[in-house]
Amino acid sequence: MKKLIKNGTLITASDTFQADILVEDGKIVEIGQALHIPDAEPVDASNKLVLPGGVDPHTHFDLEMFDTVSSDDHYTGHKAAAFGGTTTVMDFVVQNPPLPIGERAGVRGGFRHDVDLWLQKAEKAAIDYSFHMNLTHFDEQVAKEIPSLVEMGITTLKVFTAYNGRLRLDDGNIFKALRIAKENGMLVMLHAENGDVIETLIPEALAAGHTSPEWHALTRPAWGAAEAGLRVAGMASVADAPLYIVHMNAAGEVDMLKYARKHGVKVMGETCPQYLFFTIDHLRRPDGAKWICSPPMRTEADNARLWQGIADGTLQTIGTDHCPFFYDGTKPILYEGQEVAIPGKELGADDFTKIPNGLPGVGDRLPVMWTYGVRAGKMSANQFVALNATNPAKIFGLYPRKGALLPGSDADIVIWDPEKKVKYGVAHAQHRTDYNLYEGWELVGYPEKVFLRGELIVDNEQWLGKRGGGQFLKRGEGLVL
Ligand SMILES: [Zn+2]
Repeated sequence: MKKLIKNGTLITASDTFQADILVEDGKIVEIGQALHIPDAEPVDASNKLVLPGGVDPHTHFDLEMFDTVSSDDHYTGHKAAAFGGTTTVMDFVVQNPPLPIGERAGVRGGFRHDVDLWLQKAEKAAIDYSFHMNLTHFDEQVAKEIPSLVEMGITTLKVFTAYNGRLRLDDGNIFKALRIAKENGMLVMLHAENGDVIETLIPEALAAGHTSPEWHALTRPAWGAAEAGLRVAGMASVADAPLYIVHMNAAGEVDMLKYARKHGVKVMGETCPQYLFFTIDHLRRPDGAKWICSPPMRTEADNARLWQGIADGTLQTIGTDHCPFFYDGTKPILYEGQEVAIPGKELGADDFTKIPNGLPGVGDRLPVMWTYGVRAGKMSANQFVALNATNPAKIFGLYPRKGALLPGSDADIVIWDPEKKVKYGVAHAQHRTDYNLYEGWELVGYPEKVFLRGELIVDNEQWLGKRGGGQFLKRGEGLVL
């Protein structure tokens, strides 16, 4: 039952130091120098780094979209996450259109129904997980039901300023949601784009015969992201509520975030690796559909401003928005010995609006950010831990159980080999899809062993985790960073 991780260099959000870690019953029980515990199974971490397991605040497993479904489910996606050093994920529950008031009493309908459906999908979980609630329909009845989410351990509501008639709430309802969140110790998360501008530009583009992937970006302008972010930050200030902007992608958004934070607004920001490395030029490639996600890729200047926002602390977290699709869903791939094909990006071959929106990434995040962030001198190893594990745990009410190497924390531990060289790509990544955004990239530094609550679930190339081995995490009120 006891494990002793010896001689490693621990990296936390604030410190780097040599120590041993004693693990018992799934928890870290002691951290100290030269621990001598004769009845503990030794794990040698000499010349290795020891990090808290990654916490990815933004995934979409088994999500229906455009007559298909994201190609990783709550098992395959968790497995991919674990191989990349991530041991906790947060997925978004779809809010079903509410039944008419009156029919909603009892067990049918409402958030309980929506959350139960997601819990059922996630029974195959292989790492620990929790949920955010999409708030895409709002009326008096929904408003009354929101506090019940807190009892279910869901303390976050995601709202959208885009996707008119589908996911978007109007400004008045977003403001009301912010107030309800404030009253109940919840956090509103924001997808910031300008739905009205987008819904004007898309039909114009199609009418002019523009059907290629780059038009996905050209019809979703960066200014919409910047102004929508600031607009809702302003509402959050009036409501005295915290706000978290997901998948920040544009330079202007970082500027607006900095402005709002300077003025005391409790607003925080997440970006994703794809917005740091890719641009609209990738959408112009023949295989540009691989890079289709919303919001879209921008420019090199946007990449650079996001990196700067990470370095100077304007942004708090790195999530993945993992929502993979096959590039060619007509050709099966081999996954765990079985042929699998799931309709994907080819659905939009003649029309960019029909390309499923989303990318693989949950397993890529830590290795890619280590090589191109830490090794490239763009962030310290401690910042890497803060952005990818500790800050998400703090903001979303999981700290110090997750995202920390502390006595009492869950023993979610990654032994990281800083010298391991990997030629990365689809053959190495474990996502259930047929491509990888980082194909051919040289990585230096990779997880060697991954422990989930003290259980070894990844040992180099070997998968030791299991379906159903992950636990649902009820979250409490988070911190404003
Ligand atoms: Zn998302």
